[in-house]
Amino acid sequence: AKAAGKAAWARFEPRMRNEVVNHARLGSELHNAIIRHELFLAYQPVFDIVTGAMSGAEALVRWKHPVRGNVPPGDFIPVAERSGLIVPLGSWVLREACEQLAKWHAEYGSAAIRSINVNVAARQLREAGFVDEVAAVLSDTGLIPANLVLEVTESSVIDGRQVRETLEALHELGVRLALDDFGTGQSSLSLLRAFPVDVLKLDKSFVDGICDGEDRGRLAVAAAVAQLAEYLDLYAVAEGIETAAQLDRLRAMGYRLGQGYYLAKPLPPDEMAALMTQTART
Ligand code: C2E
Ligand code: CA
Ligand code: CA
Ligand code: CA
Repeated sequence: AKAAGKAAWARFEPRMRNEVVNHARLGSELHNAIIRHELFLAYQPVFDIVTGAMSGAEALVRWKHPVRGNVPPGDFIPVAERSGLIVPLGSWVLREACEQLAKWHAEYGSAAIRSINVNVAARQLREAGFVDEVAAVLSDTGLIPANLVLEVTESSVIDGRQVRETLEALHELGVRLALDDFGTGQSSLSLLRAFPVDVLKLDKSFVDGICDGEDRGRLAVAAAVAQLAEYLDLYAVAEGIETAAQLDRLRAMGYRLGQGYYLAKPLPPDEMAALMTQTART
């Protein structure tokens, strides 16, 4: 057993060291990326799945590294969170996304796309100036607060009094708050009463399971979240819809809003614009 343990360690160690080195390197490269404008945003449409109209879009950050190519956010967001770089990075995302929505409104009207969703990390919510920053971005871009949906996770919300006050101030401002990856956290329903939540985003993992005959558990969660939203007068959004069957099922459960590769992948702004003029024409 000892030999096996040692062998396992010997196999594991270099990879571990690599990971540490990689994180450090990725961190400093990310710092440069912000300065060198290697970051950009993709937009994934959110549709009204009953009418088929585009209702909004989620801004998703992309990093085109000069050597590594496209680095997925799942790789660098956690690094950015640990180093604190998420604060300037998140500020850039917020402003860029709001500026983009304002441009679309000017060009295609607010009926073509109403709102923009921006992911906000726990660390950003803990910044003392966050509410003022959001207010400044809204006033600079001329957007009304209801056009902005901030996506936060359950774990970042349950972070003490200061974060709760921040969320309340944002809500007071008129910004909408979405609980991202809903159902995956230590979801306590009391959270929904303690925080000014407007939108529940059902996590993809539950959508994956709803057409799988064996998986009654995930099906039950998906249905329960739609009901919960209805009773609490919240919006329910299903994310990660990949098939027509999932879409039909979610619609039947009462979901009004949906997002996923089956409907549209995250797109560059010009492809978003094409989609908007298309939907506007039909
Ligand atoms: P998320 O907020 O849960 O975003 C949804 C992720 O699911 C996105 O991956 C999106 O491209 C992907 N997705 C959407 N529809 C489908 C589908 O039908 N099938 C599959 N397989 N995937 C789908 P992405 O863009 O790689 O982002 C991953 C995560 O990175 C996000 O998860 C979010 O937690 C984080 N992230 C991305 N952009 C930002 C940002 O600007 N700020 C912060 N704080 N986090 C971000
Ligand atoms: Ca999100
Ligand atoms: Ca999500
Ligand atoms: Ca997710």
